[in-house]
Amino acid sequence: MEDERNKPGLVREVLDGVAGLAGSYAATLTHLFRKPVTEQYPEYKRPLPARTRGRIILTRSPDGRERCVACYLCSGVCPVNCISMQSEEGPDGRRQAAWFRINFARCIYCGLCEEACPTLAIQLTPEFAFSKDAIADFVYEKEDLLVSHGGKDPAYDFYAHAGVTAGGPKGEHIGEDEPVDVKSILP
Ligand code: SF4
Ligand code: SF4
Repeated sequence: MEDERNKPGLVREVLDGVAGLAGSYAATLTHLFRKPVTEQYPEYKRPLPARTRGRIILTRSPDGRERCVACYLCSGVCPVNCISMQSEEGPDGRRQAAWFRINFARCIYCGLCEEACPTLAIQLTPEFAFSKDAIADFVYEKEDLLVSHGGKDPAYDFYAHAGVTAGGPKGEHIGEDEPVDVKSILP
């Protein structure tokens, strides 16, 4: 009696299996007659999205000065503790990193340092091909990390926003929402 009840289910399973196999062979056959897509790496490097998380750089403001103010936020947020630095006061009285070090042998390219950075100084780039023979060579110093451009947002200048007194009424500054009248949202 029990075997009789199982019969339709068994037939359906066999038919599903055959249909699956036929579909797989059909896909294989289709690809047999397609032109292969072979990318000759490293001669050809496929363009990657700007947000790809690869090698890290330290960028500069539009005036060419270092963006990093050595606030330690990136090193504090880094889950593998691969960023270290020492802060100092620069010749113009501006805070900067005396030295800045990233151990790429430990970095997991999570991008949290970039998220935490208030000045857009630290940025991950799409560059991923920088293998080394010796693991110690993965320790990059500030001079290896610092670039001559502003990276993803070349026009951004932290000091044009930070510490600048904002005149005028609330809700009229750039990117500021209208103030909410709290009495108007009371139940
Ligand atoms: S990408 Fe992640 S792991 Fe690498 S330095 Fe930044 S926070 Fe640390
Ligand atoms: S890179 Fe950004 S988060 Fe890290 S110390 Fe410099 S300013 Fe702070």
